[in-house]
Amino acid sequence: MACTYVPKAGIFEAAPDVRGVWHWNTYPGARVDCPVPVYAFDFEKVWSTWKWTQLYPGQKELQAYFRHVDQEMEISKDTLFNSRVNGAQFNRDTARWTVTTEDGKKVVAKYFIPAVGEQQHVPQWKGYETSKWDIHHTSCWRSGGVDVKEKRVAIIGTGATGVQITQEWAKESDETFVFQRTPNYALPIYQNKWQKETSDIFAFSATTVGGLAWQSTTKNYDDYSSQEELEKNLNEMYDKGGFHCWTGGIADLFMNPVGNRVVYDTWVNRGRQRAQDPVKAELLAPKEPPHPDYYEQFNRPNVHIVDTNAHPIVETRPQGIVTDDGTIYQVDAIAVATGFDASTGSVTKLDVRDVDGVDLSSRWKDGIQSFLGMTVPGFPNMLIPYSIQSPAPWTNGPVFLRLQVDWIRDMIAKLEKEGISYIDLYKEKAQAWRDELLAVTNMTLFPEAKSWYMGANIPDKRLELMYFPAPMPMYFERCAAARDGQFAESFFASRNAE
Ligand code: NAP
Repeated sequence: MACTYVPKAGIFEAAPDVRGVWHWNTYPGARVDCPVPVYAFDFEKVWSTWKWTQLYPGQKELQAYFRHVDQEMEISKDTLFNSRVNGAQFNRDTARWTVTTEDGKKVVAKYFIPAVGEQQHVPQWKGYETSKWDIHHTSCWRSGGVDVKEKRVAIIGTGATGVQITQEWAKESDETFVFQRTPNYALPIYQNKWQKETSDIFAFSATTVGGLAWQSTTKNYDDYSSQEELEKNLNEMYDKGGFHCWTGGIADLFMNPVGNRVVYDTWVNRGRQRAQDPVKAELLAPKEPPHPDYYEQFNRPNVHIVDTNAHPIVETRPQGIVTDDGTIYQVDAIAVATGFDASTGSVTKLDVRDVDGVDLSSRWKDGIQSFLGMTVPGFPNMLIPYSIQSPAPWTNGPVFLRLQVDWIRDMIAKLEKEGISYIDLYKEKAQAWRDELLAVTNMTLFPEAKSWYMGANIPDKRLELMYFPAPMPMYFERCAAARDGQFAESFFASRNAE
């Protein structure tokens, strides 16, 4: 039966518990790639009462951490669990959003914050829907796990998720087939024990380019006196592990094709030292760029790489994967690590409609329109965190998210203080943000890569860089300006009647 709530502030959550992505992602090997403590909240009552065991914690430890966060911050008490939103529309006359859920709940609210994460992507293989056996997308893994001992298994996809599962399944199963379309850049993380940090680390990470515990290099390719000097530095960064090689090499990595190639070649040399079989090494780390424990797994004779660039998958069926040359790979379990319809996929699936009743995907059919990635014209008082047209994917999530959420909180406080019933972004402002993003994009190498950043992993998705490749502090300076000095030129503000 339909029911209506008018809460002060409330959360709809599709899952039965808090923890977001770490609730759903229970696949083997799931682990964070940014080291703690900065992959964590900076609320003192949370961090001062918590001890990590590892620098890069796994999914179980992260689940325990989010339970702790919930206990300290009391999130559950304001949350309606098992409630999947299936519609949202703003009404100008009442200046309110009406948000509905699949099970008939309805909320009327002044502000609407879709913090919806990502929408899973499963390619349209024949037989996938009808196969009732051990085939699991990584974002909805079978509860209780998948037993692969003495079995033949397949992993489809070699993004961060596929790499993590491969490291586990290759060790446990009898035979492993890794279906690779595009080779990936994997770096060793060098797991370590966590050392207790000082509180300053959180404040410092908020000032860095990527929201990490260290500052990125400011040295461009041309600032190195020789290629040898750069290679030496890159090798040192590689040995430090994780994102150091990315953030500590050259500052113009995304802009300078020559420097980018030196970074790639250094990575190839290191990667190839780890995978001994030359045929497998060429597939994993090709000398010509497309784009760890990981590579060592391929030294096992029972771990195979299937090149789906040469022969795409056309069908999955009980006990097998069929490629377009008719080969049938007989397996007992499949991990579908094919990623996500990133950012736009989840928010458009909500069926959120603008003031004229037009849904978001129709509004974005000719390209994403937003300002700062957080506001969209025609969708008043909708504030989107951690999504499109911001530097989100190039930053450490919790730090970036905290700064965006602070901005949203301050914006709401401002509207309440100034008696504004709603704000609506001017269309010209969205167009200007888009134009600027496209101009910056064209100075980078992103358009040359087939990647999910460009939406290239989803058939028929419009190709555009979905994020703003700007350093985090620069982006937040723009956010502050939009909230303060440039507020009136950015937003139409409807004031409460006297
Ligand atoms: P992803 O990076 O999008 O990788 C998906 C993989 O599936 C790609 O290798 C893709 O190949 C392949 N694929 C897609 N469709 C295919 C098809 N029809 N046939 C064959 N292969 C296909 O997804 P993900 O690995 O789940 O990662 C998603 C995001 O989560 C990333 O940002 C990642 O960094 C993040 N993540 C983080 C962690 C962590 O913090 N430790 C862990 C996991 C994931 P193409 O490249 O050719 O499209």
